[in-house]
Amino acid sequence: ATPTALMVGTGRGAQLGILITGPEVLESTRTVDAIALDKTGTVTTGRMTVTDVTPAPGERTIDVLRLAGAVEDASEHPLARAIAAAARTRVTDLPPVEGFAGTAGSGVSGVVEGHAVLVGRADLLRARGIDPLPTGDADLTTVQVAWDGAARGTITVGDTVRPTSADAIRRLRELGLEPVLLTGDGESVARRVAAQVGIDRVVAGVLPEGKVDAIRALQDQGRTVAMVGDGVNDAAALAQADLGVAMGTGTDAAIAASDLTLVRDDLLAVVDALRLSRATLRTIR
Ligand code: ADP
Ligand code: MG
Repeated sequence: ATPTALMVGTGRGAQLGILITGPEVLESTRTVDAIALDKTGTVTTGRMTVTDVTPAPGERTIDVLRLAGAVEDASEHPLARAIAAAARTRVTDLPPVEGFAGTAGSGVSGVVEGHAVLVGRADLLRARGIDPLPTGDADLTTVQVAWDGAARGTITVGDTVRPTSADAIRRLRELGLEPVLLTGDGESVARRVAAQVGIDRVVAGVLPEGKVDAIRALQDQGRTVAMVGDGVNDAAALAQADLGVAMGTGTDAAIAASDLTLVRDDLLAVVDALRLSRATLRTIR
């Protein structure tokens, strides 16, 4: 590989809005034949909005929002931003949170107004010995809000698929890559998004380590795997993948774990990156 040709490749990459960590990255773009895509913030915009707050019997909507919003204000997850923003529309000053802790891909906890608050997946509550509340439509992303040892409400958030995701996935298939949707969110939400963008294989309800296992399982089948993600919960899987790709709006952890970063926040940039680097490899051979 001549350094000049590589410079051209990486230079054009920057113009197309793709940042490459180094020339050795180009080699794996030639052999990738599977691509794992994170759902929230990658296939979808990650610009979530709260669509529903349901307090448990005897609880008030405003308390569920205030306490959940106060804890989520300290988290950078797209869900967290939506919940904090919704809380702010109802509560002028969110109370401070003490002892904030986040479990990637599961939820958050902290002490607010003297209450030990937990916001996240149903199994996060179960792990702390709290029975989660029943949720209505399984096709929606719903998080549980608990404090002082009991579930107090649920918050439902809506997210939208990026307008270019379906087209990008079709083109990735044309380039010979089989897409797999990888998400910590529930199975039915994942299936619905997958159907919208033309993905058949779905791995849902997994913790960050489960995403790593899914990548490794594909590699064990002899596949060369690309992974696209944005979250802290994706970092380990991005590192495990043969080609890790971070969304430009992604978290620092995702970007640091990746070989390639998309400045343009759009999956079509992955298609461009693969085409460009395959073309660059042809030039330098
Ligand atoms: P994805 O893999 O689609 O990007 P994540 O792994 O980030 O999704 O999140 C998976 C699930 O974990 C969410 O659907 C939610 O139930 C829960 N979760 C993650 N982070 C938070 C948070 N900050 N607040 C509440 N719930 C969270
Ligand atoms: Mg994500």
